[in-house]
Formats: sequence, structure tokens, C-alpha cells
Amino acid sequence: MFEKPRFKTINHLAFACLITVSSVSLVGCKTAGVNMDGMLSAGMGLVSAASLSDEDMKQIGDKSIAQLDSAQSIAPPNNPYAQRLARLAAPWSEVDGYSLEYKVYLDPTVNAFAVPNGSIRFYSGLLDEMTDDEVRYVIAHEIGHVVLGHSKGRFQTAIMASSARQAIAASGNSTAAALTSSQLGELGEKLVNAQYSQRNENEADDFALNLMIQYGFNPEASVTALRKLESKFGNQSSLFSSHPAPGARAQRLESQIANR
Ligand SMILES: [Zn+2]
Repeated sequence: MFEKPRFKTINHLAFACLITVSSVSLVGCKTAGVNMDGMLSAGMGLVSAASLSDEDMKQIGDKSIAQLDSAQSIAPPNNPYAQRLARLAAPWSEVDGYSLEYKVYLDPTVNAFAVPNGSIRFYSGLLDEMTDDEVRYVIAHEIGHVVLGHSKGRFQTAIMASSARQAIAASGNSTAAALTSSQLGELGEKLVNAQYSQRNENEADDFALNLMIQYGFNPEASVTALRKLESKFGNQSSLFSSHPAPGARAQRLESQIANR
């Protein structure tokens, strides 16, 4: 989660490094991809990300999000949080051929994330902090991660770095049926806590800005949303572990809006 201080100084590192930071020393993680390679190959199956078909990915994604949801208190449809998110996300039930599905976790954590199957989850803590247009920006940003394939890449990396990899290899095929609930839980946790690269963040921000403008929402909300995160959490420990350096991103978006 965002509050973990160990993520503070490693925002720029590759995602593959970050998602296993709990089991690799920071120094080793920071300085040597070799450590990662050794760790990944030791005792693990030989399945590769490339061997997973889109259908496999979808199945594993569906199961992972179901497992994550089952561990959370989900806002029921008549809950004000659920109704607000449903209202704000209403224009974007499908974007660029991706069907999107939204739920709120009743949890004070300030976070949101997306899974490549189009599942987007908001924590109620984030909804408490943001105006409607700011929430729209976060929704649009998460959609960007799905549509631009970032979410898929992150998910593939999470699979490779989890015990699910071994189970998939051992099953003789690469279907989600091989995964136990604890493996899916581990995978889901890696997914929620993982970071995107700064480049992916910028791409998702650009996507969000365009979507906001296209739909007639105030693009300045992207800047104020990020400024809020900056003032609340600072730039080192970002509001979202998966969304580093809010101050720099706010500045970047601000100049893009000014130059339009
Ligand atoms: Zn992001």
C-alpha cells in the first residue's frame, strides 16, 4: 500500500523489482537485475509470460479480482459510495472496446487500481478525498492503464513473480484452474501493491486528460487531484504506491493544459 515507507525511494525502479521488494533486499533490488533473475528461476516453474494466452490472462484476472473482492467489504449497490462511483463512471462502462466494471471497497485507504480484465476498484478513502471531477480523473487514469496495456504488463510480471507461476507450470498447461485461493490471494496482493513505471504513469495521465476533455469534464481536476495527494502524502511516499511523484505529475499536466 502507499503508506509503506520502503517504497519511498524506489519509485523509478522497474516494476518487476518493486513487486518483490518484500522478499529481496532493497539494495539487491536496486542494483542488480541478476538477483531478481536468480530468485525467479530458483525452484520455480519454467512458464513464461509469453506462454500465457489472452484467455489465460483473462481467467487468471477474473479469479484474482474475485479473490481480492472476497477479502474486502464491497459497497452494496444502494450504498452512497457505490452510487457515487457508478454515477461518475457511467459514461465509461466501455472504452476503446474494453468493458469496465467498477466497485468500491469500504476501506479508508486512499487508493484505486485496475486489473487487465477491466475491473477497476476504488477505496472509499479515496472517494472521501476527491471532488467529482477529481474522481473522474482517477477513473480515466485507471482506464488508461487498462486500455494502454500497462495493467496487463504489470499483471504478467506479478504472475511471474508469484508462486502462481510454479503452479501454472506444474499443471502442464497455463490455465487458471491450477491456482489455489492462496496463490490467487498472493497474486492479488502483488497486483494492488505494485508500481507502474513513471513512463506508464505519464501515458495514463495523458490518456486521462484527453478523456476528460473529450467528455467535457474539467481537466484542471487532474492537477488538483494530484496536488491533494502531494499535500497529504508528499512526493516521496505517494498516495498510491502505484502512482508515484504526484507533484511532478501535477506540474506536467498543468503545463499541458496551459499549452493547449
Ligand atoms: Zn497510475
